[in-house]
Amino acid sequence: MSFLVTIGLEVHCQVKTNTKMFCACETSFADEPNTHTCPVCLGLPGALPVLNRHAIEKTLLAGLQLDCGSPEVSKWDRKNYFYPDMPKNYQTTQLDLPLCLGGEVPVYDFNYPTEVKKNIPRPGLKVRLNRIHLEEDVAKSTHLGSSSIIDYNRAGTPLMEIVTEPDIESSAEAFAFLRSLQMILQQAGVSDADMEKGQLRCDVNISIRRRESDPYGNRIELKNLNSISAVRRAIDYEIERQSEDLEAGVEQIQSTRRWDDDRGESQLLRTKEDAHDYRYFPCPDLLPIHTGPLLDAVRPLTTERPHDRAERYENDYRITAYDASVLASDVPLATYFETLAANEKVPGKKAANFLLNVLLGLLNERETAIDASPVSAEKTGSLLELVESGQLALNQAKEVLLKLLEEPGRDPAEVAKAMGFEPADAGELEAFCDQAIEANPKQVAEIQSGNEKLVNFLTGQVMKLSKGKANPKQVTEILRSKLL
Ligand code: ZN
Ligand code: MN
Repeated sequence: MSFLVTIGLEVHCQVKTNTKMFCACETSFADEPNTHTCPVCLGLPGALPVLNRHAIEKTLLAGLQLDCGSPEVSKWDRKNYFYPDMPKNYQTTQLDLPLCLGGEVPVYDFNYPTEVKKNIPRPGLKVRLNRIHLEEDVAKSTHLGSSSIIDYNRAGTPLMEIVTEPDIESSAEAFAFLRSLQMILQQAGVSDADMEKGQLRCDVNISIRRRESDPYGNRIELKNLNSISAVRRAIDYEIERQSEDLEAGVEQIQSTRRWDDDRGESQLLRTKEDAHDYRYFPCPDLLPIHTGPLLDAVRPLTTERPHDRAERYENDYRITAYDASVLASDVPLATYFETLAANEKVPGKKAANFLLNVLLGLLNERETAIDASPVSAEKTGSLLELVESGQLALNQAKEVLLKLLEEPGRDPAEVAKAMGFEPADAGELEAFCDQAIEANPKQVAEIQSGNEKLVNFLTGQVMKLSKGKANPKQVTEILRSKLL
């Protein structure tokens, strides 16, 4: 029996700033432990916080990129708990008036796991957001047997918490959602969102039920997942675990579990009964924020989002929605494509095909990124001009490109010529055509009685005779004029 799955995510994402949220300490990664600390981020008595304007602006920018609204006034609250990673014994965060409210994340189809891509259950899915608030990251603790060590370099790093509505129905959707969100935040310059550096971490809320008409099942929370693939594994495990329980008549108790990625299982941390009561209250040390003037300052900094760019490509270059979304997904790739497609002699669709199907493949083999491509977009454009004018066949263009990748200083037309790919003189081509016609009387008879498709067969024969140097377009034209 299968169950309906309901998933909501809480994504913690480090905001890209030079200094911490409430003090002037540098934000850092993998530096000597406890070298970027001060009385504020160590929580020493009497130290007072000072707001980091950049962190607030970047969070508002994230909100604009994700179609969120903002309350006129946003305020700060204290979330009280005792744990060594938070030496003040409270986290400064935002409870009821966060910087951003509502909004949505478009889930890009190309971000689904490969096996799912061919059969996406809900293509074009949009996941609604509940809110985005700003808070401070905690210190990093490492547990070694019976002792623990702690590094306060991370304590106080600005952290956005992005909370979704329960709109996600599978591990594959959660996976594609996180990759899409990561892409939008990175491109907006809001966060590097590098999971390996712990800059993007995720809590998963998941419940299952039998039918649409049933109330939601009790919610299980999985804490602090630090890779997108771990999120996927954890969700798959949880769905199976909860389904087995439900089938055996065991109801879930609302609880928090820890995902152990090495063992591939989740373990109970605590149930609702022993859940924390954080006793939130407004932070007396920080003034509320009037968002209006800050939003005005940030609005000009918004950038074209991948899905807006994809839509523009679809309209301007008449390429498929999927190709458009792939080209738009990566800024350097988009830049290369736009430069290439700016060549008026090359149709956008052909530019897109050549870039996605030929050049990217060859660069991948060389482990070279598109913005480090030895062959510039302008040069690829000149190469495709030769194809458009009928001087080169597509497979010949690919060979010329291979040569250009090795010797990027050369000119495409000159390389084509040196490789023998030049329009053969008409006399020579005609002689090859006559030879092919003479050698294949049966096919010629069929062509002349209406099977025009067989012209391609003869073109192939002529290509062989010319040792692949002839231009197939030109050959087909000569054959047709001779036979039809
Ligand atoms: Zn500090
Ligand atoms: Mn949080």
